[in-house]
Amino acid sequence: NDNELKALAEAIQSKNGPWNAEPLVPGAKSTGASVQVTNPADRRQAVGSYVTADSATVEKALANAVAAHHSWDRLPAASRAAILEHAAEQLEARRGEFIALCVREAGKSLPDAIAEIREAADFLRYYATMARRLFGHPEQLPGPTGESNQLFLNGRGVFVCISPWNFPLAIFLGQVSAALAAGNSVIAKPAEQTSLIGHAAVKLLHEAGVPAEVLQYLPGDGATVGAALTRDPRVAGVAFTGSTETAWAINRALAARNAPIAALVAETGGQNAMIADSSALPEQIVKDVVASAFQSAGQRCSAARVLFVQEDIADKVCAMLAGAMAELKVGDPGQLSTDVGPVIDEDAKKILVDHAARMDKEAKKIGEVALDTAATGNGTFFAPRAYEIPGLSTLTREIFGPVLHVIRWKADELPKVVDSINATGYGLTLGIHSRINDTVDYIQSNARVGNCYVNRNQIGAVVGVQPFGGEGLSGTGPKAGGPHYLLRFAGERTLTIN
Ligand code: NAD
Repeated sequence: NDNELKALAEAIQSKNGPWNAEPLVPGAKSTGASVQVTNPADRRQAVGSYVTADSATVEKALANAVAAHHSWDRLPAASRAAILEHAAEQLEARRGEFIALCVREAGKSLPDAIAEIREAADFLRYYATMARRLFGHPEQLPGPTGESNQLFLNGRGVFVCISPWNFPLAIFLGQVSAALAAGNSVIAKPAEQTSLIGHAAVKLLHEAGVPAEVLQYLPGDGATVGAALTRDPRVAGVAFTGSTETAWAINRALAARNAPIAALVAETGGQNAMIADSSALPEQIVKDVVASAFQSAGQRCSAARVLFVQEDIADKVCAMLAGAMAELKVGDPGQLSTDVGPVIDEDAKKILVDHAARMDKEAKKIGEVALDTAATGNGTFFAPRAYEIPGLSTLTREIFGPVLHVIRWKADELPKVVDSINATGYGLTLGIHSRINDTVDYIQSNARVGNCYVNRNQIGAVVGVQPFGGEGLSGTGPKAGGPHYLLRFAGERTLTIN
């Protein structure tokens, strides 16, 4: 509620760091580079620093993880689950510190940072519950008389978790807790931009009872530390969330090893659409598309990038969209009045600026949020904007930021709209706004996407309720926060006794 939010906002103002981190690898002291971290909302503000893992530290982490796997895997699943549940309690008890870190290092708005803590705690508890259910006891299988057949699940070995910056706590802890729950030893490589949050999350799990060799933290560059891990033959599996291009690189590295075939759980990019027909309510379309496209500065894999709106209501929807965008406030993510915070860094901003320059020439601008440069001048801010683009073909490349593209369609063009969405090859989220059952049925049964949302926004999947993950270029499955996710982190063994 508002009072609680206000109290929390005041409390975190006092938590300014500095936060400092180095690899958490027993027996190693890295001599890697020290990287200074600054606040995306104000680049003059130091947040802390971290030391990257050098090659000797990577090697030691792998050796530790191999040695630690067996004893962790032999623990009863209920003991591993209890540790994860304890970590969830501790995370909630210390949420002020984690929220402050999410705001300062990742530029998260306060509501987003609070949601991040909730989702991370949900993952810890959900995978603990699933571990008890799936790994707690062998499954007795039917067989011939006089023979007992049992199926056991166990950890695969060393799992490497490589995560993105946009959900630096929830996705990071989601991957790590799934791999741990299933009985793997884990090496966690956070995104470069959010290494301090990754460090705090690993410390939390250590304090909750995960042994230091079972979960190690290796900050550093994807192209060096990440690549060194994924080409190592001792690695039995990789949980990766990030761009489709990086997933390809990891897949190639794993395939090139002269080693047992590793499991790859990849959750990747999207080019997500929302389709609205003329039976839908314009107010609701606009409210949901503004949340889906601009919340978190559009830096969600699930965000809507393209709104396909039926021509009869298109003028009205575009006018209302421009009005709603004019109300958005871009600025300091630590202020409750802020709707849209900064984008993560200069590289991300440059891609958006270049894309907007192209759109300014090729499309019609419908809306742009005004930036108060006094409030945003020292940060990596990008004003949210919306363009109307001609023709039915949608964009092919993921634009990761607050840019929405609007396309009009005629009554007989629905199949073409769905075809053009499928033609991107991505298949993450799809929003549908319609009050006609046949239209909803047609779209949801013909669009190849992992998560479909009808008459609501398409962001913010709830763990255990809306398992999340895509098809095609958007990921391998199974869905995170769903009942089958842990199985991908497990090996299976049968025991037949005559
Ligand atoms: P990214 O692919 O640039 O980086 C992700 C991670 O991969 C980082 O930790 C990075 O250091 C590491 N990495 C980079 N190169 C590597 C290599 N060669 N070998 C091993 N690791 C390497 O992605 P990002 O910019 O951090 O995140 C944004 C992307 O993540 C977007 O495409 C977004 O759609 C996607 N995403 C997807 C989901 C989902 O659930 N499908 C969720 C969040 C983000």
